[in-house]
Amino acid sequence: MATKKTCSFCGRSEREVPLLITGMSGFICSDCAEAAYQIVMENMKGAGAKPSSDFNLALDELPKPKDIKAFLDQYVIGQDDAKRYLSVSVYNHYKRLQQKREDDGVEIEKSNIIMVGATGTGKTLLARTIARLLKVPFTIVDATVFTEAGYVGEDVESILSRLLQVADGDVKAAERGIVFIDEIDKIARKADNPSITRDVSGEGVQQGLLKLLEGSIVNVPPKGGRKHPEQDFVHVDTHDILFICGGAFDGIEKKIAQRLNTHVVGFNSVQHTRHIDKGNLMKYILPQDLKSFGLIPEIIGRLPVLTYLNPLDRDALRRILVEPKNSLVKQQVKLFAMDGIELEFTDDTLEYIVDKAVEYKLGARGLRSIMETLMVQLQYEAPSDEKKKKLVITKEYAQSQLENSTLQEGMEG
Ligand code: ADP
Repeated sequence: MATKKTCSFCGRSEREVPLLITGMSGFICSDCAEAAYQIVMENMKGAGAKPSSDFNLALDELPKPKDIKAFLDQYVIGQDDAKRYLSVSVYNHYKRLQQKREDDGVEIEKSNIIMVGATGTGKTLLARTIARLLKVPFTIVDATVFTEAGYVGEDVESILSRLLQVADGDVKAAERGIVFIDEIDKIARKADNPSITRDVSGEGVQQGLLKLLEGSIVNVPPKGGRKHPEQDFVHVDTHDILFICGGAFDGIEKKIAQRLNTHVVGFNSVQHTRHIDKGNLMKYILPQDLKSFGLIPEIIGRLPVLTYLNPLDRDALRRILVEPKNSLVKQQVKLFAMDGIELEFTDDTLEYIVDKAVEYKLGARGLRSIMETLMVQLQYEAPSDEKKKKLVITKEYAQSQLENSTLQEGMEG
């Protein structure tokens, strides 16, 4: 005779419960399963454990600043200062999330970061690379899309919608996340004096952003887009979200130079006549230069870690071409290897590519377009050529490809 199936917890039979789940040596009904879930969640809360999510943190498992930097080194050439600052900030962010508020009254404060450096020097690359390693939700947003509330464009709150989406709607996880805001310089006000007329794209957006940086509870439309009255909002507390900002701040060197000059000719000039590296004024950047550029002091105050990226010189460009884990050369080699072709670049070809990138003043971004231009013909022909087993890209070949290209014409025009 078949045994009657009953819930091993409440004893009710299959007919008396909505659903009976079979186990190895017993059964559980859906009602008891639900009650068990409640008990587990209650207990976890009491023990200070976090609900299950991909973003659980344990301090001893976290990458240490040196590990973070070593990871960045695999993908980003140079920029040691920026890497160190980023590594420390991210690590401190983790530590901050671990701290027990009531302990000793010492509260580790958040250190939002601002990275200043010419376009194409690796700011976004740093942010993207760090994202691969992170154990918290991370998103990159572009400050240029924001406008003051009530105008066409996105509200700054949409930053948090994105973070929520990355965190699969888990508000608690999003509240511990990291946001990279690119092109922060584009929301600078146009002159270093409070605007009389409304500055839709600049100061208003900075004010909006300030609210998020300071730490406040923000109503966020969970699906993004603009706020509208019928929408349900999710409340997100930004107190623990780490913000990393980046911007090219075109022309800020002039402000730095002016400041350095005034100091040099000032009455206590003796102390200030240190050697100044005129080729890289960016490394002398101070918060007051950001103010001269048009960031409001309150925003600057909320971005206490200020770091810079170096312009990329010939040597750096050459290294970028070959060294990173997914360097342009390695990518090409892989593309051809998939067709069974061994690809090689001669040294003088690499030098030539770097020369052209310098000449076109496109920095590291230029390397990519030059590489694409000089490889396109071979990428077109080689896969159909059964006999080709090896290809060596010589300088002469590179020259012939580039000189006939629209890239070259564009640059000359
Ligand atoms: P930014 O955000 O500073 O304007 P990006 O990080 O977008 O510049 O850089 C553009 C591209 O140039 C990157 O995708 C990368 O291929 C290359 N690049 C720039 N700087 C570096 C660097 N320091 N190391 C390696 N590659 C770099």
